[in-house]
Order: sequence, then C-alpha cells, then structure tokens
Amino acid sequence: MAHLFQVDRVKLLCSCGILKPITAIYLCRHCLKLRCGNCVSHEVDTLFCPNCLENMPSTEARLKKNRCGNCFDCPSCSHTLVTRATSVQTTAPDDPSKTLARKVYYLACTRCRWTSRDVGLKDQTVASGGWGEQDNEHYRFLQSLMEHYRALAQAEKLEREKKRSAHRKSSYLALSDKYSLPSLLGRKSLTPLSPYAPKGDSSQLSEMTPLEASEEVEGLPDNIFTEELILSSVTTMEQRIASPEWQPEDVGQLYPLRKHILPKRSLRCRHCEHNLSKPEYNPSSIKFKIQLGAFYHVPEVRLVRGVVLKSGVETSVQVSLCNPTPHDITLALLPFVPEAYMEAQQKEEGSEGSLVAPGGLVRVVDIPREKPDVELSGDVALPQGTLVLAARDDTAEYDDHDAASTFKDDPQVVAWRRANKVGVNLLVTPHPGAERVRVGLMMRYDYTNTVATATEARIVTLNVPIIIDVGAVSEQG
Ligand SMILES: [Zn+2]
Ligand SMILES: [Zn+2]
Ligand SMILES: [Zn+2]
Ligand SMILES: [Zn+2]
Repeated sequence: MAHLFQVDRVKLLCSCGILKPITAIYLCRHCLKLRCGNCVSHEVDTLFCPNCLENMPSTEARLKKNRCGNCFDCPSCSHTLVTRATSVQTTAPDDPSKTLARKVYYLACTRCRWTSRDVGLKDQTVASGGWGEQDNEHYRFLQSLMEHYRALAQAEKLEREKKRSAHRKSSYLALSDKYSLPSLLGRKSLTPLSPYAPKGDSSQLSEMTPLEASEEVEGLPDNIFTEELILSSVTTMEQRIASPEWQPEDVGQLYPLRKHILPKRSLRCRHCEHNLSKPEYNPSSIKFKIQLGAFYHVPEVRLVRGVVLKSGVETSVQVSLCNPTPHDITLALLPFVPEAYMEAQQKEEGSEGSLVAPGGLVRVVDIPREKPDVELSGDVALPQGTLVLAARDDTAEYDDHDAASTFKDDPQVVAWRRANKVGVNLLVTPHPGAERVRVGLMMRYDYTNTVATATEARIVTLNVPIIIDVGAVSEQG
C-alpha cells in the first residue's frame, strides 16, 4: 500500500467544493467560510530574488524579464551557481618580463560540478555583475512583435476608454494591462483617458506582415549519420527548455541561467475582499502581517494510526483533534450527508449574492464552484455528545498537571486527552466492494472570532466538512 501522509488522508471541503488539506486552506473571519487557493484572488506584493533577496518593483522586473541581474542557476542541474575566486598569472602591462597574480572569478555549481569554464566562458575580473547577456539571434524580430502588440493593446485600450466614458466608473482592475502597457510604452501612455490616439500607432500596426507557414523544413545536418553519438554530450529536454531562446543541443553550449525572481503573494477573499494572507514586505522576512490559515483557526483532525479494514466489518479508528486557538473549543462530530450538504450549499449560494447591497463598495466576484468530490465508501459511527478541546497553551508540554482531571469527559466520547489534544474513536464500516475507505463527518465547533474591529470576542458556530481516507480494505475480508 502506498504510504499516504496526513495531508492526503484528512481533507477539508472548501466552500468552493474542492477538498484540501488543512495546510492549504484558509478561514475567512469575515465570511466565516473556508477558502482555498482556487477561490481567493492572488495578488503580487513584492518581487524578489530568492538567492540574494533583492526586491525590485514590477516595472524593473518586467524589463529584466523577471530574472535577477546577479544570481545564476546552473544550466546543467538548475541548482544555484556560486562565484569562485582564483588567481591567475598574467604579465605586468609595464614590464613584460614580470608576472603578476590577478584575482579572477568564475561560476561553479556545487551540486553537479559544472563551471562556467567548462563552456569556455572567460573568467571575470569582478565578483558580480560582469556576466553579459547572451545574444539572441531573433531579438530584433521578437522586439518588433512586442512593439506591434503594444500598439495593438494601446488601440484596444483607447477603444475601451471611449466606450466607458458613457458610464464613468473606473475600476483599478480594468487598468491592468495585457502587454505591459504603461510601464514599457513610455509615459505618454499614462494618460489613457485621452480620446486621441498617439501618433504613429496606426503605422506600427500596418508594418507587420504575418508569417507564412512553409512545407519545407531544414534537413538534418550531414554528420548526424556519420558521427558517433556521445549521449553525455547531448542536453536533456529540461536543460534545453530552461533557456527557450537558444535551446542548446550540446552541453558545451550551456550558458548560466539568470535566476527567476519570485513573488510574495497576498491572498484576498473574493467575496468580502478582506486579506486572508499578507506577507511582510521585506523579502528576508518569513513572517506574515495577516495569516488566516485554517491551521490556526480550525481544530486539526489526524488519523492516529493505520488499521486493518475488512469489508463489511466495523472497525475502531482513532483520530486526534487538536485545538490551535487560545480559547477552549466545544466540539461535536456530526454525520456528513453529501446530498444534504450540497443542497444547503446551493441554497446558500442564492442568498450569498444578495448579502452585499448593489452599488456598495464591495465588489462581489463569482467564486468558481466545483462539483464536490464527496464519494464516500464507508459508514462511520460517531461518538454522541460534545467534547471540550482545551485552549492551546505553549507551556503545557512542560507541565505535569494532568488535563484529563479538569474536564469531565465521557469515556464513550474521549479516548484520551493531552494538553490541547483529544483522541476520539470512530467506528468505520467499509461499504461492500470498496477498495479504499473514505468517510465523511461534519465537525461543528464554537469558534471565538477575534476580528480586530470587534470590541469583544464573538463566538460563532462553524461547520467544517471533513473527508477522511481511512485506508485500504484488506483482501481477505
Ligand atoms: Zn475553495
Ligand atoms: Zn539575486
Ligand atoms: Zn549543476
Ligand atoms: Zn470573506
């Protein structure tokens, strides 16, 4: 049986209908709904190089083709290249009979031992910034294409502006440019509301002649049948695609790759527009200003250990529940009925749209809803009644005090209790014929909502649908 991690075993059903592990899901504290990467809007906050951590504005990043100017990746294995220094003997410029030691630098990969010397690149006399760009033979053609599309986009944009002038309602999102308009076309394009097209646009548009496809393709080189093929000197597909402009076929043509820059993203609830995740601006910081990961707000369910399941036989499966919040949580496990859940979702969908008054500041965007994958292949008998999950206490692990005595637990419900964790036994019966057993349950709990604007903590009841992959059914059932 393939080993599955907890994140593959226990999944939460997002409000959009996608199953996600608790580590990949968020809880919007304003809508009180689960949200995942599929149903939030992603915004780029900062662009930075993951190696030197230099951040740059988006216009600069575009000009640099989203690559760092100083850091390189190995063209052979894509690991980060390091600069190595060595000294070479050169003749002194004023006296040819004397030799001088000079420090030079080259790039080397600490993983696969590739160096820039392997491909005959000249050593640099400066430690960084000396490596030039490789010339692309199609540069001019690509540039003219870019120009053409910019002009085209400009024309399209003016057209749009004209149409919009009837009902003047500007949205900053509509200004998002398709072909990097405002930044690259120069400042003149920053006056998009002008109804007059800049001069020269139409001429640029007419310059392009579409390319024609030809039946003839270049033949193979003559030596391909005569020369012995040395596989180690042929580049792999990954190596070729890593530099799409050149696509080197021979390892001798590999050239250091400028490192891709990465974005720091913030996530926004599409329904209420509140941030669900917002990182610190500084690239070297791994902290967040806002982090509403479900991991911090929803009790985590884990399978305690694997069990042997037999078709039609009721088996006890233990799960643990862990409270990540600093408040005690009262929790109940309820049966999850996919049909009833979907019906309730559909009803809610209708009412959700009318929550926000038309003309309000909040822009309601339709959240793409997926058909939930909630095929269950087992029945589960859940413990009746409620249980209390103790608040998370970071000092609890140093404490010998037995938490079990503080809570009057029903032994029918709670199997064990340790600090903010509780073990619960579920009785799982696989459906006949099922190979893997998936059961669903609804976790109902009291969530203490501490939205910053609220003067006091509000307690709301949340229902979180959870699908658990209990395991495979053993053959001899
Ligand atoms: Zn979602
Ligand atoms: Zn860098
Ligand atoms: Zn390498
Ligand atoms: Zn929201």
